[in-house]
Amino acid sequence: MNRYESLLLTALLSGSLVGAGAAEKPQNFARADLAAVASLRDRGLADDTAYRLIESLTTEVGPRPAGSPGDKAAVAWAAREMQRLGLKNVRTPAVVVPHWERGDAEFAVIAPLPQSMPVLALGGSVGTDAAGIEAEAVQVADLKVLAALPADAVKDRIVFFNGRMARTRDGAGYGAAVPVRATGPSAAAKLGARAVVIRSISTSHDRFPHTGTTRYAADGPRIPAFALSNPDADALERQFATGQAVRLRLRSSARDLPPERSANVIGEIPGSDRASEIVILAAHLDSWDPGTGAIDNAAGCAILMTAAKLINDAGLKPRRTIRVALFANEEFGLSGSRAYVEENAAELDRHVVGFEADFGAGPVWRLASRVNPAQLPAVDQIHRAMQPFKLERGGNEATGGADLDGLARLGMAILSPDLDGSNYFDVHHTANDTLAQVDPAAVRQSAAAFAAAIWLAAQYPGDWQRVTTEKPARR
Ligand SMILES: [Zn+2]
Repeated sequence: MNRYESLLLTALLSGSLVGAGAAEKPQNFARADLAAVASLRDRGLADDTAYRLIESLTTEVGPRPAGSPGDKAAVAWAAREMQRLGLKNVRTPAVVVPHWERGDAEFAVIAPLPQSMPVLALGGSVGTDAAGIEAEAVQVADLKVLAALPADAVKDRIVFFNGRMARTRDGAGYGAAVPVRATGPSAAAKLGARAVVIRSISTSHDRFPHTGTTRYAADGPRIPAFALSNPDADALERQFATGQAVRLRLRSSARDLPPERSANVIGEIPGSDRASEIVILAAHLDSWDPGTGAIDNAAGCAILMTAAKLINDAGLKPRRTIRVALFANEEFGLSGSRAYVEENAAELDRHVVGFEADFGAGPVWRLASRVNPAQLPAVDQIHRAMQPFKLERGGNEATGGADLDGLARLGMAILSPDLDGSNYFDVHHTANDTLAQVDPAAVRQSAAAFAAAIWLAAQYPGDWQRVTTEKPARR
Protein backbone atom coordinates (compact mmCIF):
# COMPACT_ATOMS: atom_id res chain seq x y z
CA MET A 1 0.00 0.00 0.00
CA ASN A 2 2.15 2.53 -1.34
CA ARG A 3 1.18 6.06 -1.72
CA TYR A 4 4.65 7.53 -1.92
CA GLU A 5 5.90 5.20 -4.57
CA SER A 6 2.72 5.62 -6.55
CA LEU A 7 3.10 9.36 -6.51
CA LEU A 8 6.66 8.97 -7.67
CA LEU A 9 5.56 6.73 -10.48
CA THR A 10 2.85 9.14 -11.51
CA ALA A 11 5.30 12.01 -11.56
CA LEU A 12 7.58 9.91 -13.75
CA LEU A 13 4.92 9.19 -16.30
CA SER A 14 2.53 12.07 -15.86
CA GLY A 15 0.47 13.51 -18.57
CA SER A 16 1.24 11.05 -21.32
CA LEU A 17 -1.63 8.66 -21.48
CA VAL A 18 -4.76 9.86 -19.78
CA GLY A 19 -6.98 10.29 -22.82
CA ALA A 20 -10.27 12.10 -22.99
CA GLY A 21 -13.41 9.99 -22.77
CA ALA A 22 -15.99 11.15 -25.29
CA ALA A 23 -19.49 9.84 -24.73
CA GLU A 24 -20.38 6.75 -26.72
CA LYS A 25 -23.58 4.79 -27.11
CA PRO A 26 -23.81 1.73 -24.86
CA GLN A 27 -22.96 -1.38 -26.81
CA ASN A 28 -24.59 -4.68 -26.06
CA PHE A 29 -22.63 -7.86 -25.55
CA ALA A 30 -23.15 -10.69 -28.04
CA ARG A 31 -25.67 -13.23 -26.80
CA ALA A 32 -23.17 -16.10 -27.07
CA ASP A 33 -20.66 -14.19 -24.93
CA LEU A 34 -23.26 -13.65 -22.22
CA ALA A 35 -24.29 -17.30 -22.42
CA ALA A 36 -20.70 -18.41 -21.81
CA VAL A 37 -20.99 -17.06 -18.26
CA ALA A 38 -23.18 -20.00 -17.25
CA SER A 39 -20.69 -22.48 -18.60
CA LEU A 40 -17.75 -20.72 -16.88
CA ARG A 41 -19.67 -20.75 -13.63
CA ASP A 42 -20.56 -24.45 -13.86
CA ARG A 43 -17.00 -25.37 -14.77
CA GLY A 44 -15.54 -23.13 -12.09
CA LEU A 45 -17.70 -24.42 -9.27
CA ALA A 46 -16.62 -27.98 -10.14
CA ASP A 47 -12.91 -27.22 -10.58
CA ASP A 48 -10.43 -27.48 -7.70
CA THR A 49 -7.48 -26.07 -9.65
CA ALA A 50 -7.22 -22.86 -7.63
CA TYR A 51 -7.18 -24.65 -4.29
CA ARG A 52 -4.62 -27.15 -5.65
CA LEU A 53 -2.40 -24.26 -6.80
CA ILE A 54 -2.54 -22.66 -3.35
CA GLU A 55 -1.71 -26.01 -1.80
CA SER A 56 1.18 -26.53 -4.20
CA LEU A 57 2.72 -23.05 -3.81
CA THR A 58 2.45 -23.03 -0.02
CA THR A 59 3.77 -26.59 0.31
CA GLU A 60 6.46 -26.79 -2.35
CA VAL A 61 7.71 -23.20 -2.05
CA GLY A 62 6.32 -21.84 1.23
CA PRO A 63 7.43 -18.37 2.40
CA ARG A 64 8.74 -16.22 -0.46
CA PRO A 65 9.75 -12.75 0.72
CA ALA A 66 11.60 -10.61 -1.82
CA GLY A 67 15.16 -11.72 -2.39
CA SER A 68 14.86 -15.02 -0.50
CA PRO A 69 15.46 -18.48 -1.97
CA GLY A 70 11.66 -18.97 -1.77
CA ASP A 71 11.19 -15.92 -4.01
CA LYS A 72 13.29 -17.53 -6.76
CA ALA A 73 11.59 -20.89 -6.31
CA ALA A 74 8.19 -19.22 -6.65
CA VAL A 75 9.16 -17.72 -10.01
CA ALA A 76 10.12 -21.17 -11.34
CA TRP A 77 6.94 -22.63 -9.85
CA ALA A 78 4.67 -20.03 -11.47
CA ALA A 79 6.26 -20.31 -14.92
CA ARG A 80 5.91 -24.09 -14.80
CA GLU A 81 2.29 -23.98 -13.62
CA MET A 82 1.28 -21.37 -16.21
CA GLN A 83 2.65 -23.61 -18.93
CA ARG A 84 0.89 -26.62 -17.47
CA LEU A 85 -2.41 -24.71 -17.43
CA GLY A 86 -2.08 -23.90 -21.12
CA LEU A 87 -1.13 -20.23 -20.99
CA LYS A 88 0.93 -18.94 -23.93
CA ASN A 89 3.97 -16.63 -24.19
CA VAL A 90 5.05 -17.51 -20.66
CA ARG A 91 8.03 -15.39 -19.67
CA THR A 92 9.90 -14.20 -16.59
CA PRO A 93 11.33 -10.69 -17.10
CA ALA A 94 13.94 -9.98 -14.42
CA VAL A 95 13.24 -7.57 -11.57
CA VAL A 96 15.78 -6.36 -9.03
CA VAL A 97 14.32 -6.54 -5.52
CA PRO A 98 15.49 -5.36 -2.10
CA HIS A 99 16.49 -8.10 0.31
CA TRP A 100 15.66 -7.67 3.97
CA GLU A 101 16.16 -10.50 6.41
CA ARG A 102 14.05 -10.73 9.55
CA GLY A 103 16.39 -12.65 11.79
CA ASP A 104 14.83 -13.17 15.21
CA ALA A 105 13.32 -10.84 17.77
CA GLU A 106 12.58 -10.75 21.49
CA PHE A 107 10.27 -8.61 23.59
CA ALA A 108 10.06 -8.49 27.36
CA VAL A 109 8.34 -6.32 29.91
CA ILE A 110 10.92 -5.67 32.64
CA ALA A 111 8.67 -3.62 34.94
CA PRO A 112 6.23 -3.32 36.57
CA LEU A 113 5.19 -6.98 35.99
CA PRO A 114 7.89 -8.92 34.14
CA GLN A 115 6.93 -11.22 31.28
CA SER A 116 7.96 -11.87 27.69
CA MET A 117 5.67 -11.85 24.64
CA PRO A 118 5.87 -13.03 21.02
CA VAL A 119 6.86 -10.21 18.69
CA LEU A 120 7.70 -9.60 15.01
CA ALA A 121 10.00 -6.96 13.60
CA LEU A 122 8.27 -4.72 11.07
CA GLY A 123 9.36 -5.34 7.48
CA GLY A 124 12.41 -3.29 6.54
CA SER A 125 13.14 -2.30 10.13
CA VAL A 126 16.69 -2.05 11.43
CA GLY A 127 17.88 -4.42 14.14
CA THR A 128 19.29 -3.68 17.57
CA ASP A 129 22.74 -4.65 18.77
CA ALA A 130 23.08 -8.05 20.41
CA ALA A 131 22.30 -6.68 23.88
CA GLY A 132 19.07 -5.09 22.70
CA ILE A 133 17.44 -1.89 23.91
CA GLU A 134 16.06 -1.39 27.41
CA ALA A 135 14.07 1.75 28.13
CA GLU A 136 10.91 3.16 29.61
CA ALA A 137 7.91 3.10 27.28
CA VAL A 138 5.33 5.77 26.44
CA GLN A 139 1.87 4.72 25.25
CA VAL A 140 0.10 6.74 22.52
CA ALA A 141 -3.05 6.03 20.51
CA ASP A 142 -1.85 7.26 17.14
CA LEU A 143 0.37 9.62 15.18
CA LYS A 144 -1.70 12.68 16.10
CA VAL A 145 -1.39 12.02 19.81
CA LEU A 146 2.35 11.49 19.41
CA ALA A 147 2.71 14.80 17.60
CA ALA A 148 0.81 16.63 20.37
CA LEU A 149 3.09 15.42 23.18
CA PRO A 150 5.37 17.95 24.91
CA ALA A 151 8.94 18.20 23.63
CA ASP A 152 11.20 15.46 25.01
CA ALA A 153 8.21 13.32 26.13
CA VAL A 154 9.51 10.32 24.16
CA LYS A 155 13.23 11.18 24.05
CA ASP A 156 15.35 8.07 24.72
CA ARG A 157 12.15 6.06 25.26
CA ILE A 158 10.22 3.35 23.45
CA VAL A 159 6.94 4.49 21.86
CA PHE A 160 4.00 2.06 22.06
CA PHE A 161 1.34 2.83 19.42
CA ASN A 162 -1.83 1.28 20.78
CA GLY A 163 -4.55 2.13 18.21
CA ARG A 164 -7.09 -0.57 17.26
CA MET A 165 -8.13 -1.59 13.76
CA ALA A 166 -11.83 -1.94 12.84
CA ARG A 167 -13.16 -5.07 11.09
CA THR A 168 -14.77 -4.26 7.71
CA ARG A 169 -15.70 -6.29 4.63
CA ASP A 170 -13.89 -4.02 2.20
CA GLY A 171 -10.65 -3.32 4.06
CA ALA A 172 -11.47 0.26 5.08
CA GLY A 173 -10.34 -0.50 8.65
CA TYR A 174 -6.88 -1.40 7.43
CA GLY A 175 -6.55 1.77 5.41
CA ALA A 176 -7.37 3.81 8.50
CA ALA A 177 -4.98 1.94 10.82
CA VAL A 178 -1.94 1.23 8.67
CA PRO A 179 -0.25 4.68 8.62
CA VAL A 180 1.09 3.98 12.11
CA ARG A 181 2.98 0.96 10.81
CA ALA A 182 4.28 2.79 7.75
CA THR A 183 5.35 6.07 9.32
CA GLY A 184 5.17 5.63 13.11
CA PRO A 185 8.81 4.59 13.55
CA SER A 186 10.17 7.63 11.72
CA ALA A 187 7.75 9.98 13.47
CA ALA A 188 8.92 8.67 16.85
CA ALA A 189 12.58 8.69 15.81
CA LYS A 190 12.38 12.38 14.93
CA LEU A 191 11.29 13.05 18.52
CA GLY A 192 14.28 11.16 19.86
CA ALA A 193 12.68 7.77 20.58
CA ARG A 194 14.92 4.68 20.58
CA ALA A 195 12.40 2.12 19.30
CA VAL A 196 8.74 1.64 18.41
CA VAL A 197 6.25 -1.08 19.26
CA ILE A 198 2.83 -1.12 17.60
CA ARG A 199 -0.38 -3.00 18.29
CA SER A 200 -0.63 -5.20 15.19
CA ILE A 201 -2.63 -3.82 12.26
CA SER A 202 -4.90 -6.81 12.65
CA THR A 203 -8.38 -7.89 13.72
CA SER A 204 -7.23 -11.20 15.16
CA HIS A 205 -7.64 -12.40 18.73
CA ASP A 206 -4.78 -14.87 18.57
CA ARG A 207 -1.18 -14.30 19.59
CA PHE A 208 0.34 -14.07 16.10
CA PRO A 209 1.76 -10.58 15.59
CA HIS A 210 1.30 -8.99 12.16
CA THR A 211 4.28 -7.76 10.15
CA GLY A 212 4.32 -5.51 7.07
CA THR A 213 6.47 -2.77 5.67
CA THR A 214 7.57 0.23 7.62
CA ARG A 215 8.90 3.18 5.67
CA TYR A 216 11.66 5.28 7.17
CA ALA A 217 11.92 8.94 6.26
CA ALA A 218 15.04 9.46 4.13
CA ASP A 219 16.22 12.37 6.26
CA GLY A 220 15.70 10.93 9.74
CA PRO A 221 17.20 8.35 12.07
CA ARG A 222 16.14 4.70 11.67
CA ILE A 223 15.04 2.98 14.85
CA PRO A 224 13.98 -0.64 15.45
CA ALA A 225 10.23 -1.30 15.12
CA PHE A 226 8.11 -4.23 16.31
CA ALA A 227 4.52 -5.48 16.39
CA LEU A 228 2.66 -7.22 19.21
CA SER A 229 -0.51 -9.29 18.69
CA ASN A 230 -3.81 -7.85 19.92
CA PRO A 231 -3.98 -9.98 23.10
CA ASP A 232 -0.42 -9.02 24.01
CA ALA A 233 -1.06 -5.35 23.26
CA ASP A 234 -4.03 -5.67 25.64
CA ALA A 235 -1.71 -7.17 28.24
CA LEU A 236 0.79 -4.36 27.80
CA GLU A 237 -2.04 -1.83 28.08
CA ARG A 238 -2.91 -3.37 31.48
CA GLN A 239 0.66 -2.83 32.59
CA PHE A 240 0.31 0.88 31.76
CA ALA A 241 -3.01 0.89 33.64
CA THR A 242 -1.15 0.16 36.89
CA GLY A 243 0.08 3.75 36.72
CA GLN A 244 3.67 2.62 37.23
CA ALA A 245 6.52 3.18 34.81
CA VAL A 246 6.63 0.48 32.11
CA ARG A 247 10.11 -0.67 31.13
CA LEU A 248 10.66 -2.84 28.06
CA ARG A 249 13.58 -4.75 26.62
CA LEU A 250 13.67 -5.33 22.85
CA ARG A 251 16.06 -7.16 20.61
CA SER A 252 16.06 -7.78 16.84
CA SER A 253 18.63 -9.14 14.43
CA ALA A 254 16.84 -7.82 11.31
CA ARG A 255 19.16 -6.51 8.60
CA ASP A 256 19.40 -5.38 5.00
CA LEU A 257 21.30 -7.51 2.50
CA PRO A 258 22.37 -6.60 -1.04
CA PRO A 259 19.57 -6.49 -3.67
CA GLU A 260 18.70 -9.74 -5.45
CA ARG A 261 17.30 -10.81 -8.78
CA SER A 262 13.68 -11.86 -8.93
CA ALA A 263 11.20 -11.79 -11.81
CA ASN A 264 7.64 -11.09 -12.83
CA VAL A 265 5.92 -14.14 -14.29
CA ILE A 266 3.68 -13.44 -17.27
CA GLY A 267 1.46 -15.71 -19.38
CA GLU A 268 -1.34 -15.04 -21.83
CA ILE A 269 -4.38 -16.18 -23.69
CA PRO A 270 -3.71 -14.38 -26.98
CA GLY A 271 -6.62 -12.34 -28.29
CA SER A 272 -8.17 -12.47 -31.76
CA ASP A 273 -9.53 -9.40 -33.59
CA ARG A 274 -8.62 -7.04 -30.73
CA ALA A 275 -5.44 -8.86 -29.69
CA SER A 276 -3.45 -5.63 -29.31
CA GLU A 277 -5.71 -4.63 -26.39
CA ILE A 278 -4.71 -6.18 -23.08
CA VAL A 279 -6.92 -7.23 -20.19
CA ILE A 280 -4.37 -7.51 -17.40
CA LEU A 281 -4.89 -9.84 -14.41
CA ALA A 282 -2.58 -8.84 -11.57
CA ALA A 283 -1.55 -10.57 -8.37
CA HIS A 284 1.70 -10.65 -6.45
CA LEU A 285 3.75 -13.79 -6.17
CA ASP A 286 5.87 -12.77 -3.17
CA SER A 287 4.71 -13.12 0.42
CA TRP A 288 5.82 -12.13 3.88
CA ASP A 289 7.92 -14.72 5.64
CA PRO A 290 6.26 -15.73 8.93
CA GLY A 291 3.53 -17.83 7.23
CA THR A 292 3.36 -19.50 3.83
CA GLY A 293 1.43 -16.68 2.14
CA ALA A 294 -1.72 -18.72 1.44
CA ILE A 295 -4.31 -15.94 1.55
CA ASP A 296 -1.68 -13.26 0.78
CA ASN A 297 -1.26 -14.00 -1.97
CA ALA A 298 -1.14 -17.57 -3.24
CA ALA A 299 -4.94 -17.22 -3.33
CA GLY A 300 -4.90 -14.24 -5.68
CA CYS A 301 -2.35 -15.88 -8.01
CA ALA A 302 -4.38 -19.09 -8.03
CA ILE A 303 -7.74 -17.38 -8.62
CA LEU A 304 -6.41 -15.52 -11.68
CA MET A 305 -4.43 -18.45 -13.11
CA THR A 306 -7.53 -20.61 -12.73
CA ALA A 307 -9.83 -18.00 -14.26
CA ALA A 308 -7.63 -18.05 -17.37
CA LYS A 309 -7.59 -21.85 -17.36
CA LEU A 310 -11.42 -21.98 -17.15
CA ILE A 311 -11.71 -19.71 -20.19
CA ASN A 312 -9.20 -21.87 -22.07
CA ASP A 313 -10.83 -25.14 -21.07
CA ALA A 314 -14.25 -23.90 -22.18
CA GLY A 315 -12.79 -23.45 -25.66
CA LEU A 316 -13.49 -19.72 -25.55
CA LYS A 317 -11.32 -17.51 -27.77
CA PRO A 318 -11.14 -14.00 -26.34
CA ARG A 319 -11.15 -10.97 -28.60
CA ARG A 320 -8.70 -9.05 -26.41
CA THR A 321 -5.49 -10.59 -25.05
CA ILE A 322 -5.86 -11.82 -21.47
CA ARG A 323 -2.53 -11.39 -19.68
CA VAL A 324 -1.84 -12.91 -16.27
CA ALA A 325 0.91 -10.95 -14.52
CA LEU A 326 2.26 -12.30 -11.23
CA PHE A 327 4.37 -9.47 -9.88
CA ALA A 328 7.57 -9.66 -7.84
CA ASN A 329 7.84 -7.99 -4.46
CA GLU A 330 4.57 -6.19 -3.89
CA GLU A 331 4.98 -6.39 -0.14
CA PHE A 332 8.24 -4.55 0.26
CA GLY A 333 8.07 -1.85 -2.38
CA LEU A 334 6.08 -2.84 -5.49
CA SER A 335 9.28 -3.69 -7.41
CA GLY A 336 7.60 -5.92 -9.99
CA SER A 337 4.68 -3.72 -10.98
CA ARG A 338 6.91 -0.64 -11.13
CA ALA A 339 9.39 -2.45 -13.38
CA TYR A 340 6.49 -3.61 -15.55
CA VAL A 341 5.25 -0.06 -16.10
CA GLU A 342 8.75 1.12 -16.97
CA GLU A 343 9.46 -1.76 -19.35
CA ASN A 344 6.11 -1.46 -21.10
CA ALA A 345 6.12 2.33 -21.30
CA ALA A 346 5.49 2.28 -25.05
CA GLU A 347 2.31 0.24 -24.78
CA LEU A 348 0.69 1.25 -21.53
CA ASP A 349 -2.32 2.65 -23.38
CA ARG A 350 -2.96 -0.83 -24.81
CA HIS A 351 -3.76 -2.00 -21.27
CA VAL A 352 -7.47 -1.30 -21.40
CA VAL A 353 -8.91 -3.09 -18.35
CA GLY A 354 -7.29 -4.45 -15.21
CA PHE A 355 -8.34 -7.01 -12.62
CA GLU A 356 -6.40 -7.52 -9.40
CA ALA A 357 -6.77 -10.27 -6.80
CA ASP A 358 -4.95 -9.40 -3.59
CA PHE A 359 -7.52 -9.63 -0.84
CA GLY A 360 -7.66 -13.26 0.19
CA ALA A 361 -9.45 -16.36 -0.96
CA GLY A 362 -12.98 -15.06 -1.36
CA PRO A 363 -15.83 -15.50 -1.95
CA VAL A 364 -16.58 -12.66 -4.37
CA TRP A 365 -19.50 -10.66 -2.97
CA ARG A 366 -19.68 -7.50 -5.07
CA LEU A 367 -18.79 -6.17 -8.51
CA ALA A 368 -17.30 -2.69 -8.38
CA SER A 369 -15.52 -0.68 -11.05
CA ARG A 370 -13.48 2.32 -11.97
CA VAL A 371 -14.42 2.95 -15.58
CA ASN A 372 -15.10 5.89 -17.83
CA PRO A 373 -18.76 6.76 -17.19
CA ALA A 374 -19.47 5.89 -20.84
CA GLN A 375 -18.78 2.24 -19.96
CA LEU A 376 -21.02 2.08 -16.88
CA PRO A 377 -23.79 0.48 -18.98
CA ALA A 378 -21.28 -2.24 -19.92
CA VAL A 379 -20.52 -2.86 -16.24
CA ASP A 380 -24.28 -3.04 -15.61
CA GLN A 381 -24.57 -5.69 -18.34
CA ILE A 382 -21.67 -7.66 -16.86
CA HIS A 383 -23.27 -7.46 -13.42
CA ARG A 384 -26.60 -8.70 -14.83
CA ALA A 385 -24.91 -11.51 -16.75
CA MET A 386 -23.25 -12.57 -13.48
CA GLN A 387 -26.63 -12.67 -11.70
CA PRO A 388 -26.19 -16.38 -10.79
CA PHE A 389 -23.32 -15.32 -8.50
CA LYS A 390 -25.74 -13.00 -6.63
CA LEU A 391 -23.22 -10.17 -6.39
CA GLU A 392 -23.95 -6.76 -4.98
CA ARG A 393 -23.40 -3.91 -7.42
CA GLY A 394 -20.55 -1.74 -6.14
CA GLY A 395 -19.92 1.85 -7.12
CA ASN A 396 -17.48 3.25 -9.64
CA GLU A 397 -14.88 4.15 -7.00
CA ALA A 398 -12.92 0.87 -7.01
CA THR A 399 -9.22 1.47 -6.40
CA GLY A 400 -7.80 -1.83 -7.65
CA GLY A 401 -4.92 -3.25 -5.66
CA ALA A 402 -1.44 -1.84 -5.14
CA ASP A 403 0.06 -3.59 -8.18
CA LEU A 404 -2.38 -1.96 -10.62
CA ASP A 405 -2.09 1.46 -9.03
CA GLY A 406 0.41 2.70 -11.62
CA LEU A 407 -1.66 1.60 -14.62
CA ALA A 408 -4.92 2.82 -13.06
CA ARG A 409 -3.40 6.24 -12.42
CA LEU A 410 -2.70 6.42 -16.14
CA GLY A 411 -6.41 5.96 -16.83
CA MET A 412 -6.75 2.21 -17.31
CA ALA A 413 -10.24 0.95 -16.39
CA ILE A 414 -10.56 -1.38 -13.39
CA LEU A 415 -13.16 -4.08 -12.89
CA SER A 416 -13.24 -5.35 -9.36
CA PRO A 417 -14.95 -8.59 -8.37
CA ASP A 418 -14.51 -7.83 -4.66
CA LEU A 419 -13.27 -10.61 -2.41
CA ASP A 420 -14.87 -10.73 1.04
CA GLY A 421 -12.23 -9.42 3.42
CA SER A 422 -14.18 -9.72 6.69
CA ASN A 423 -11.69 -12.24 8.11
CA TYR A 424 -8.70 -11.30 5.97
CA PHE A 425 -6.97 -9.21 8.63
CA ASP A 426 -7.21 -12.03 11.17
CA VAL A 427 -4.51 -13.79 9.19
CA HIS A 428 -2.74 -11.58 6.68
CA HIS A 429 1.01 -10.98 7.29
CA THR A 430 1.08 -13.43 10.22
CA ALA A 431 2.52 -16.87 10.87
CA ASN A 432 -1.08 -18.06 10.68
CA ASP A 433 -1.37 -17.35 6.93
CA THR A 434 -1.33 -20.97 5.79
CA LEU A 435 -3.45 -23.33 3.69
CA ALA A 436 -5.63 -24.08 6.73
CA GLN A 437 -7.19 -20.61 6.34
CA VAL A 438 -8.43 -21.27 2.80
CA ASP A 439 -12.00 -22.46 2.17
CA PRO A 440 -11.99 -24.57 -1.02
CA ALA A 441 -15.62 -23.66 -1.87
CA ALA A 442 -14.90 -19.92 -1.57
CA VAL A 443 -11.88 -20.26 -3.87
CA ARG A 444 -13.89 -22.16 -6.48
CA GLN A 445 -16.58 -19.46 -6.44
CA SER A 446 -13.95 -16.73 -6.71
CA ALA A 447 -12.17 -18.29 -9.69
CA ALA A 448 -15.50 -18.81 -11.44
CA ALA A 449 -16.66 -15.25 -10.80
CA PHE A 450 -13.36 -13.75 -11.96
CA ALA A 451 -13.46 -15.96 -15.07
CA ALA A 452 -16.92 -14.69 -15.99
CA ALA A 453 -16.08 -11.02 -15.49
CA ILE A 454 -12.71 -11.34 -17.26
CA TRP A 455 -14.30 -13.09 -20.20
CA LEU A 456 -16.90 -10.38 -20.67
CA ALA A 457 -14.30 -7.62 -20.29
CA ALA A 458 -12.32 -9.26 -23.09
CA GLN A 459 -15.42 -9.47 -25.29
CA TYR A 460 -16.90 -6.00 -24.75
CA PRO A 461 -17.93 -4.81 -28.23
CA GLY A 462 -17.20 -1.14 -27.51
CA ASP A 463 -13.95 0.53 -26.47
CA TRP A 464 -12.84 0.58 -22.85
CA GLN A 465 -12.07 4.28 -22.74
CA ARG A 466 -9.56 5.89 -20.41
CA VAL A 467 -10.73 7.03 -17.01
CA THR A 468 -10.06 10.74 -16.76
CA THR A 469 -10.93 11.47 -13.13
CA GLU A 470 -7.96 11.56 -10.79
CA LYS A 471 -7.41 8.30 -8.96
CA PRO A 472 -7.48 8.68 -5.19
CA ALA A 473 -4.22 7.86 -3.43
CA ARG A 474 -3.85 4.40 -1.97
CA ARG A 475 -2.38 3.98 1.45
ZN1 LIG B 1 -1.00 -8.99 -0.72
